[in-house]
Parts: sequence; C-alpha cells; structure tokens
Amino acid sequence: MEQNSLILIRGLEVKACHGVLGFEKTQPQPFIFDADMLFDFYGAYKSDDVTDTVNYATACELITQTAQKHGFNLIEKLAYECAFVLAEAFALKGVKITVYKPKAPVNVKFSNVGVTVTLLRTTAYLSIGSSEGDKKARLDEAVEKLGKTRGISVKKVSSYIKTPPYGGVAKGEFLNCAAEIETFLAPHALLDEIHRIESECGRVRKERWGDRTLDIDIVFYGRQIISDSRLTVPHPDYRNRWFVLAPMREIAPDFVCPECNICIKDIKCD
Ligand code: ATP
Ligand code: CA
Ligand code: CA
Repeated sequence: MEQNSLILIRGLEVKACHGVLGFEKTQPQPFIFDADMLFDFYGAYKSDDVTDTVNYATACELITQTAQKHGFNLIEKLAYECAFVLAEAFALKGVKITVYKPKAPVNVKFSNVGVTVTLLRTTAYLSIGSSEGDKKARLDEAVEKLGKTRGISVKKVSSYIKTPPYGGVAKGEFLNCAAEIETFLAPHALLDEIHRIESECGRVRKERWGDRTLDIDIVFYGRQIISDSRLTVPHPDYRNRWFVLAPMREIAPDFVCPECNICIKDIKCD
C-alpha cells in the first residue's frame, strides 16, 4: 500500500444537459459523479481546521456548477473539465473523476454507463529552441502558450542562451532555454500540446535538426522512462547537448536523471 491521503465524494447527482442527441441539449438528465482527490491532509489532522483541507461541500458545488455551466457532447469532456477544475481549485496532487450517465438514451437494458479520468500532477522539464526569425519572441511566445494551456503551469524558465547549430543540418544560430512545468497532462497529451504550440509559432516540419521557428522537446517527465514510436523520455540525446544541460543546470541542478541516476549538475558535457 502506498502512503497517501484521499478525499472522496461518492454518488453526487447533478441534472444537466450533455449528450450528442438534440433533446439531450435541452432536457436535463441525471449525471452521477464520484471524485477521488489526492491531497495531503496531515496539516488538517494537526489543526483539525477545515481550511487546511478540501472542503467537500465546496468540491460538490464546483462539480455541480461545472456540469450545469456547459453542455458537452461527451461525458469524457465533462469528466476532464471537472478534474481540471478540482485540481486547480484545491492544488491537488492528483484527482480521479468518474461520471455515470444512468439514463443514457440507449435502446438496451443496462444498469449504468460511465467514464473515469485520472490526472496526476507531474513535474516535467522542456528544452525550447529557435533558429529562425525573431528567436527571443518565439521563446517568449512558447512559454506564454505553455502557461495558457489547460493542465500546464510554468514554474521556472532559465535564461536564454545563444548556441551554434547542432547536428550538421541547421545553418542559423539557436536561442535555447529550459522550462520547468507542472502538468496534469499524460506524456503523449503533453506532446500533442507541444506540437500544437510549435505549429502555432510557425513551425513547418522539414528535415530533423534543420532550422526551425520553434522546437520544444520533453527532456524529463517526472521519473518516468518512456520508449515508444512517438516518445523517448528522458530525451535520448540530452547528455550530449550543452544547450540542454546548461539551462537545466540553472533551473534544476539537483534533479536526478531517472535513467543514469546522476544529478544534472554532475553530468559532464563538452
Ligand atoms: P531531436 O529530438 O534529436 O532534438 P528534433 O527535435 O529536430 O530532433 P522533431 O522533428 O522536432 O525532432 O521531432 C520528431 C519526433 O520526435 C516528434 O514528432 C516526436 O514524436 C518524437 N519525439 C520522441 N521523443 C521526444 C521527446 N522527448 N520530445 C519531443 N519529441 C519527441
Ligand atoms: Ca530537438
Ligand atoms: Ca523536437
């Protein structure tokens, strides 16, 4: 059993209008919510004071308001929205939301249908670079867009450093930085948001290592090691890249690489 503390809501009923069919958008039907909120309430144990914990009355109100404010097609969207609202309102370490739709208009007998989403707060490190156009403006824009993305908050940004092109394809000098973020997005969802931000900043995917308006790589995602067709984390080449390590040393010198178990400040790079 892991050491953690959860605050639970079970069976909260809200009448609201979510669904893909026309009448579901105007005629309220019941949605039932379960919430598991990962929150360290040792402080509340010490103080016995409700302001040191998640007030479940407030949490129930927030779920109710969120469900009644919107009219979504999908309970998947409703579940995510409620999860983000609770996570942000109470600075949760994690949250699991289950939404049931017991009166879903399906022509068969069933006891219930529902979805569950679990979000966990994770610290991730990103390497950001630009070698085309107004490079400083691109890095500023990238940091701003990251911060405005639901489920991402930017905690630290290193100074911007000028570096020569890497890999023998790009011609322009690069401007690079690193950012520490806290995110509730799973690794591949984070990658999707990064690709959106890169294309909003004018990136056209040409050859690897070529000149680009903006490149954002995931260097670390918590202590996870990921290797699949879309994502390799820790970034496979970060140890050989001074332009990744130097900004990382500035914002996270004591972070220990989950792969090699060496502190960032002790990793050598020529
Ligand atoms: P490099 O990854 O060597 O710095 P690059 O940044 O120029 O090269 P891109 O063209 O930006 O490469 O990305 C190619 C693909 O790499 C992306 O579409 C993505 O799926 C994949 N990828 C794998 N691991 C990562 C990672 N840790 N961060 C970002 N993208 C990754
Ligand atoms: Ca890169
Ligand atoms: Ca990249």
